Amino acid sequence: MTILITGGAGFIGSHLCEKLLKEGHKVICLDNLFTGSRENIALLLADKNFQFIEHDIIEPFFTSEKIDQVYNLACPASPVHYQLNAIRTVKANTIGVINVLGFAKKHGARILQASTSEVYGDPAEHPQKENYFGNVNPIGPRACYDEGKRVAETLFFDYYRKYNLEIRVARIFNTYGPKMSLNDGRVVSNFITQALAGKDITIYGDGSQTRSFCYVSDMVDGLIKLMEAENLTGPVNLGNPLELTIKEIAEKIISLTGSKSKLVYQSLPQDDPTRRRPDITIAKEKLNWQPEVNLEDGLKQTIEYFKKIII
Ligand code: UDP
Repeated sequence: MTILITGGAGFIGSHLCEKLLKEGHKVICLDNLFTGSRENIALLLADKNFQFIEHDIIEPFFTSEKIDQVYNLACPASPVHYQLNAIRTVKANTIGVINVLGFAKKHGARILQASTSEVYGDPAEHPQKENYFGNVNPIGPRACYDEGKRVAETLFFDYYRKYNLEIRVARIFNTYGPKMSLNDGRVVSNFITQALAGKDITIYGDGSQTRSFCYVSDMVDGLIKLMEAENLTGPVNLGNPLELTIKEIAEKIISLTGSKSKLVYQSLPQDDPTRRRPDITIAKEKLNWQPEVNLEDGLKQTIEYFKKIII
């Protein structure tokens, strides 16, 4: 097949490109390189089945090639990055998503949306099931992303209802692994780089807030399984149900790196969700998918990656 991946030079996108190339597909990677990077796809550029096009989905995109599947991953995903230009983040999820949906419609392509656990906001229900409508502050600093991703889901389902487009919506929970960007302010990348440098580990709030971390290879497998599934629009939660407090993840990273770093406590960002854990019953039953990589192994791989790029 010929597969278009928007945001293909990003963290998850570049792993997805690599996996789909390995499976024998032709991959066209579209990225505006705002948070994605050429380094992430450097090794793929030599592959004759891989093509990179620098492009922002806020502008329409055309190709004469027949595209079979589209994965829409284009959007800055870390709070630091999506808040840098909040209006652009909204544009990516509205104008950009309409462009990508229109593209898929024209090609008769199946299209998968990388949605997010952020659609649940600061969840009042725990763990989060796909039928929970969420608790999002529509005017807060996270709203450009949270509400953006919510309206992107709305657009997907409107194209499905109106044009019978073959849509797939994945709700991606926190994901980590090699190729996470150094400066995106994410908890795993921050804590590992701080621990490796012997700097203080910055815990926001008291560290009792929770997250559930999925290794990137598991996430990519889940996305492909969802894309390939028949008669399933989603939304489907993809993530690791193992829930940890932020303090626990800090302690785990200190112990795996053998670091002497100390924990320091800073103020909690506004609207920071207090807890997050996916209910993955649907993914298990309909996709036969669940995470395989345990946290310790995944963190070790990620630590090795950061050691290489820092030094
Ligand atoms: N966090 C932290 N220290 C950091 C970076 C993040 O304590 O240096 C916390 C953050 O406040 C949040 C959690 O870690 O509660 C996960 O943050 P991240 O930005 O990785 O992703 P989120 O799930 O909030 O989108």
